[in-house]
Order: sequence, then structure tokens, then C-alpha cells
Amino acid sequence: MKINAIGETLQEEFMALIVQKYGGTSVGTIERIESVAAKIKKYQDEGNQLVVAVSAMSGETNRLIALAEQISERPDRREMDVLVSTGEQVTIALLCMALHKIGCKARSYTGGQVRILTDSAHSKARIQSIDGEKIREDLQNNRVVVVAGFQGVDEEGNITTLGRGGSDTTAVALATALKAEECQIFTDVDGVYTTDPRIEPRARRLDRITFEEMLELASLGSKVLQIRAVEFAGKYNVPLRVLSSFEEGQGTLITTEEEGMEEAKISGIAFNKDEAKLTIRGVPDQPGVAYKILGPISDANIEIDMIVQNVGSDDTTDFTFTVHRSEYAKALEILRGIAGELEAREVKGDDSIVKISLVGVGMRSHAGIASTMFAALAKEAINIQMISTSEIKVSVVVDEKYLELGVRCLHQAFQLDADPVSV
Ligand code: ADP
Ligand code: ASP
Ligand code: MG
Repeated sequence: MKINAIGETLQEEFMALIVQKYGGTSVGTIERIESVAAKIKKYQDEGNQLVVAVSAMSGETNRLIALAEQISERPDRREMDVLVSTGEQVTIALLCMALHKIGCKARSYTGGQVRILTDSAHSKARIQSIDGEKIREDLQNNRVVVVAGFQGVDEEGNITTLGRGGSDTTAVALATALKAEECQIFTDVDGVYTTDPRIEPRARRLDRITFEEMLELASLGSKVLQIRAVEFAGKYNVPLRVLSSFEEGQGTLITTEEEGMEEAKISGIAFNKDEAKLTIRGVPDQPGVAYKILGPISDANIEIDMIVQNVGSDDTTDFTFTVHRSEYAKALEILRGIAGELEAREVKGDDSIVKISLVGVGMRSHAGIASTMFAALAKEAINIQMISTSEIKVSVVVDEKYLELGVRCLHQAFQLDADPVSV
């Protein structure tokens, strides 16, 4: 009898191909790598074929980035990818050694070796194709295939990387290319929670969540899965599961929307501490002004997130937008540069803000979500600086000192807290 990852019995002749990914904390020490190896062996002994993507050992990617920063503020992007991709190469070799030690046949491959072909956008490359041939051959020979996450190779053979958290995307892309039964993301939490359990200990694990909601949560700051991994899995309909490396459990299945799946209005709360706010006040209220303000910002390759323009009065208006915090100084400088030409009254900035967002497909059929949100924040005397809404989310910008309080009061207001009995 064969049992799959969540304890379902499979037909005897059925060999499930599973792609697993183990994150940085899960492979953070030799002891943990050995326990990951034991886990992999168990899945293999149950009759599954396994392809495993791994991250660098925890802290390693940051350590490598810091080394480069000691040499240059803006290191060459090609060389940067050569550098940061080494972290994953260490893990694949160590994991294979640990598998060999317990009698498991395994082979490691870098991204380039299994031809994870990407575009040439260093540090944020996109996967275009994967050559499954070599992997299939190894699987047929009962080998576990261990692939370095986060990296690929472009047409010219240059090493590329997929952006922070990119090993999730490697795993999903492998699962798509190999038509795996399921893609399992093993991490240091036992699933996707209603919000980051580090901020709200009463957060509740979700059994299921839709791709659409997960994508929104990831885009709004929940770093449990890389945005592109969710995008990819949604596009190719790869069943994706987030599970703990350390405890048994069914984790959270990310799946397509199903009738009556969850009646909740709100599935989760995301927050983003990486934004900064800029305001230009007293600009002429006339056509072309938004372009004059935001044109130079996007010409400088700075991505803009939220934008708010006030209703004009006295023929002038105020304009506020947010950018990534790392681009704050640059954006402020650009804005100050154009303020004179626009005869703006004032340019202001604030890089101690946080964006808190409610996400849920249930919002489509329930009114009053935003007002419940604003009432909960008002009760805690949290001032809302900006608001933005879309079909399945409401976001607010508040002072960063209110991050915990804001998330917790909303968690409670939308009855997301875990059942007290099960805490
Ligand atoms: P890994 O190194 O395994 O890729 P990450 O640190 O990237 O792990 O992702 C796991 C972390 O994501 C958790 O430790 C948790 O703090 C954070 N996180 C943020 N939002 C959520 C959420 N809604 N549910 C679960 N974890 C979350
Ligand atoms: N090691 C890379 C990072 O720290 C990729 C990953 O872990 O997914 O971002
Ligand atoms: Mg991650």
C-alpha cells in the first residue's frame, strides 16, 4: 500500500512524483539537513519519486550580499548572481551526502545543469523552460534529484537568480515541467496563517486558500511564498502545499476556488514594512501634472505602489504615493528636483510607515468590510494615512509603530483569531 504526503492511500501501481522544497531554516544546520534527508527517505520508501529544491542555509544569502557590499555599493549584477547562487550549491551537495549516508541514491544539480533556462534579468530572472530529461532518467534509476533553488542560466550560459525567496519558484517550475502530483513547500511554519504568526500569535492556520488570495497576500507583503511561485502555480494549476519541516501535519493547500470552500469574508491580513510615502503639496490642479510628477519617478526605474490625489481646491492639489523603502532617498531627490518647475508648495516624505491589508474573495459578496476595518483602527486611535481598495483587498497606510496593534485589532475585528480551545 502506498500513502501520499497527506496520508491518502494510493493505488499500488501508482508512483507519485512529488516536488518538495526545503527553505533556509529547514536546512540551516547539518543536523537539520540530516533530518530533511530522513524525511525525504521516508517519502521515497512510501513509493514516491522525489525531486527536491533547496535554499541556501539560513543567513547565507544575506552573508554573501554583505560581502559584496563591502567591496561596492552597486556591485555588477552578473557577478552578484554568480556570488549569491553559491549558497544553494552548498546545500545540494550536503543534502545528497546526507541522503547517501542513509542509503538513499541521490544526485545534486545546479540550476544550469538541469537547464533552468531564464531570461537575462540578473537578480530577478524569469524561468522560461526546464529540461526534464536528465531528471526523469535519474528518477527512473530510483535516485532522489536535488536541485539548487533560486538559480538558473540564460541563453548565453550566464548564471541568473530569481529574486529573494526564489527557491519557491524553482520548486513550482520543476513541478510544472515534470507534471508532479503536488508541489510541497516545507518551511518553518506549518502552513499559511491568517496573518504572520510572528506578529499575531493567535493567527490560525488555513486548511486551504485560493491561488488568487495567496497571490494577493504575497503581493501585499506575506513572505511565506514568493509571488512568482504563486503566479506560476495558479497559471499551470499545480497543487501547492505549504507544510512544516519540523512537525507532521497537512499544512495549507493552495488551490482553485471551490464552491463553499470558505465562507469567510476575510482570509488573511498582510503587511508590508518596506514602503515609504512621498507627498508633493500645492501643485497646479490641471491636466498633465500627475504625469509630470510620476514620469521622472518611473524613468528612474522606481516602482510606484499606492497613489492618492486629493480633490483640488484653489486650483491646486496634493499628490501622495508610495515606493519601496530602498528607493525612498532617490525618489525624494527627484521630487525635490521637479518641485520648483511645478511651483509646488512643499515636498514631504515619511519612511516610517507600514501598509496593512485585508484580503479575501468573500469581499466580493459582503459589504461593509472597509467600514469595519476603519472602525477597528479608530477604536485603537490609529490614524489612517492612505487607503486603497480593489476587488479582494483593502489596504491602509499607518505609522509603523502601529504595525502589531493594527494587525491584531483587525485580526480580532474580523474574527480570525484561533479558537481559544485549540490554542
Ligand atoms: P523559508 O526560508 O522556508 O523560505 P520564509 O521565511 O521565506 O521561509 O517563510 C516563512 C515565514 O513566513 C514564516 O516564518 C512567517 O514568519 C512568515 N509569514 C508571513 N506571513 C505569513 C502567513 N500568512 N502565514 C504563515 N507564515 C507567514
Ligand atoms: N536563498 C535565497 C534567499 O534567501 C532564495 C530562497 O531562499 O528562496 O532569498
Ligand atoms: Mg521563503
